[in-house]
Amino acid sequence: MGIADVVIVGCGPAGISAAIQLKRAGLEPLVFEKERVGGLLVNANLVENYPGFPEGISGIDLVALMKEHLTVLGVEVVFEDVTKVEVGHDRFLVKTAGNTVQARCVLIASGTSPKKLVSVAIPRELSDRITYEIYPIRSVREKRIGIVGAGDAAFDYALSLEKQNDVTILSRGPEPRCLPLLRERVGMSSRISFVPDTEVTAIEGGRGDELVLGCRNPGGVSKISVDHLVIAIGRNPELGFMSRQSAGLGAIQYRERFQLLIGDVRRGRMRQTAVAVGDGMIAAMAIARELREIGK
Ligand SMILES: Cc1cc2nc3c(=O)[nH]c(=O)nc-3n(C[C@H](O)[C@H](O)[C@H](O)COP(=O)(O)OP(=O)(O)OC[C@H]3O[C@@H](n4cnc5c(N)ncnc54)[C@H](O)[C@@H]3O)c2cc1C
Repeated sequence: MGIADVVIVGCGPAGISAAIQLKRAGLEPLVFEKERVGGLLVNANLVENYPGFPEGISGIDLVALMKEHLTVLGVEVVFEDVTKVEVGHDRFLVKTAGNTVQARCVLIASGTSPKKLVSVAIPRELSDRITYEIYPIRSVREKRIGIVGAGDAAFDYALSLEKQNDVTILSRGPEPRCLPLLRERVGMSSRISFVPDTEVTAIEGGRGDELVLGCRNPGGVSKISVDHLVIAIGRNPELGFMSRQSAGLGAIQYRERFQLLIGDVRRGRMRQTAVAVGDGMIAAMAIARELREIGK
């Protein structure tokens, strides 16, 4: 295989928008995705801050439209996990388990990975009932679901899940830390309970498929039984595949010019779909210009 003009790592909103704009510039981006097109957005209950959808749109429906857009444009998505990105003085090497691709430019659109509940040992046989996003349990019905966390994601997950289940939000602190509108909606649901000042300290198996959570709270300790547990205690930039090789000056300069980070992976707390889409658009335009300058 020759050298690809642009490789995009990650096919969430940032990678999708970059791919759309690169196509528009006449380029053929190669997109690697390790899981599913749409990234984290499929988890969103109702996206109300993305222009064009005055009534709001579910994350799943918005992703379906983005996916259709990629299909119409014929963007190539390769479902492989990028394990390493290395830089030389005039190209990148993008490695997956089975492939190494050379690329002139790389857009890193890999989003975030969840912070793990490291203080609690999770027995291996229970791990399939503990998730860090709700997409894997989107079709469960009439179950008891615990959510650890008190931020926007925890409250948004609760609002998605309460349509078919009973939900308990377990917050280590005394108050929610989410948008007031999410707090209000949760307060209006008869199927969601908010339990403050409660820290999960142990997870054990119970009867059948039940999970028994050992919790510490101001009254001492208590046990809460649930069928599924969702952990939503924050996220970190997903950059584990970036090479830590010490690159020479030429390679460093090449990386600065031809590798860009876009979307949630670079945005700290400003993690929103429209921001990711804007990042993708800007990066694609910048990269198209750089490639023209070097005659590609
Ligand atoms: C519950 C919830 C509700 C939300 N609600 C809203 C909302 O109402 N409005 C709003 O604007 N935003 C909302 N968001 C935020 C929105 O989902 C993100 O801002 C957006 O998805 C970021 O896009 P991204 O492309 O930067 O990253 P992501 O969507 O995280 O996509 C990154 C992609 O990269 C892939 N990837 C990572 N590493 C690799 C690798 N090594 N190889 C190959 N692929 C890789 C991942 O599998 C993933 O598909 C919500 C998020 C959550 C969790």
